[in-house]
Amino acid sequence: MCPEDKGINARRRGLSPAEDELLNRVRMLERELTRTKRLLNILENNDANINVISDSEMNAVIVMRSNGEVAFWNKAAERLLGYTQKEVIGRELHKFIAHNQYKEAYKEGIEKFASTGKGIAIGKTLKLIAVRKDGENIPVELTINGSKVGDEWLATGVVRELKEKKKVKMPGKEFDTATLVIGEATPEAVIIMDSRGKISFWNLAAREIFGYSSEEIIGKTLHKILAPKRFHERFTKAMEVFKRSGKGDAIGRTIELVAMRKNGEEFPIELSLSSVKMDTEWVAIGIVRDYSNRDEIEKQLRMTNEELEILATTDSLTGVANRYNFEERYRYEWECALRLSTPLSLVFADIDNFKVINDTYGHQVGDIFLKSIADILRTNVQRVSDLTARYGGEEFVILLPNTELSNAVDLAEKIRMAVEEHYQEISASKVPLNVTISLGVSCVIPRNTIKKEELVAAADQALYKAKANGRNQVSTLLIDEKNK
Ligand code: GH3
Ligand code: MG
Ligand code: MG
Repeated sequence: MCPEDKGINARRRGLSPAEDELLNRVRMLERELTRTKRLLNILENNDANINVISDSEMNAVIVMRSNGEVAFWNKAAERLLGYTQKEVIGRELHKFIAHNQYKEAYKEGIEKFASTGKGIAIGKTLKLIAVRKDGENIPVELTINGSKVGDEWLATGVVRELKEKKKVKMPGKEFDTATLVIGEATPEAVIIMDSRGKISFWNLAAREIFGYSSEEIIGKTLHKILAPKRFHERFTKAMEVFKRSGKGDAIGRTIELVAMRKNGEEFPIELSLSSVKMDTEWVAIGIVRDYSNRDEIEKQLRMTNEELEILATTDSLTGVANRYNFEERYRYEWECALRLSTPLSLVFADIDNFKVINDTYGHQVGDIFLKSIADILRTNVQRVSDLTARYGGEEFVILLPNTELSNAVDLAEKIRMAVEEHYQEISASKVPLNVTISLGVSCVIPRNTIKKEELVAAADQALYKAKANGRNQVSTLLIDEKNK
């Protein structure tokens, strides 16, 4: 069966690897943008949620920009190091906090970090001496993590005074500060549930999506709060399995579910679940995406797909199809014509003495002629199944499925005359311009014994014949004649 229109549509929906790559990059950029906005909001708005979490801690949390300036400084940092937030925001960190013995190393480290996000201290926990505002040297443990926000690398440092090494207590579980800070900055909702089904971690995005504060939800049974009642029984059963084995149908997968906000509103989510064993107990980590505006997202993606498709298949100068598009359609139409035994015609059109035109009027004027000839081709090639494409520099090809040779020749002649008349009109009213085109036509009912390249070669040779016979004319050549 000929794939017909269904085939075209299916192919149109499917993306080529290059388009797919582009689309993925668009999606990544979108995600990056959301993340950047969120982080900038946190950094600019100092009483944003990160303060709530980091201020309730014993540990100092400091965020440093890539130029070494302090962008964030919590209450614990004020207590530990003696400087208020006001005193340090915008100042270069190493200048006031680093002990003399580290100052050089700091400076070098920051320069490397600014350009690469890397450094010997990044991702590590170091024991150092920090200098307090009152001049006292205090031993600290410093954990630094780098994250890229837009074009800039930010370093998040968690400083603990060594004599008071503590973990942060959360109901049910213990998490260190670095985990909490990273969890907070993640743009998607991160929820951790212990083996009893109780929520032990709940980040900023989760608070935004569901509307519950951490205080309201930590320690509560997850499904009773977040899932509509009709799903409770299913959850309870799944929990039994999970408790024993850390396994479950949804673990390790991404699923779509209906969830419930604090105000009772039900909404679709996408949930990616994984499990880890912490000490002796299985915990589940869920990443939740709000899918309530999915239709809108999909609409936007579809539009992007269409835009990408146009970009990938159109010749930017003339607006007709590009060579790649022609090759693809030609393969497809050849298959159709082969299966249905219908005639397939090809017309090659080439501007006469274009080199002279370019030399006389300049390349830019040459481009204008190219565009206007493309327009003439387009207005004369009218059937939906026909395709006009730019084949090379100043050469066009017209693909005419289910078209006999005589009809293809008629069309070619009509186009030749239209170009001639167009330039005659201009010559009469403005400047004399001698712009014409030559056309070569071939046609075949495809058979298995013929290669599809043979039709292209025949039409190309027909064009050569038209040139050799004096230009501004249409010539034909059939494959069989060519082989003679
Ligand atoms: P013929 O009648 O035998 O086709 O002569 P011609 O001069 O048109 O043929 P030839 O292939 O020797 O030259 C084609 C010229 O087309 C050479 C090149 O400068 C010009 N050309 C190719 N692509 C473009 C383009 O995108 N813009 C412009 N302005 N000129 C182009
Ligand atoms: Mg030419
Ligand atoms: Mg040429």
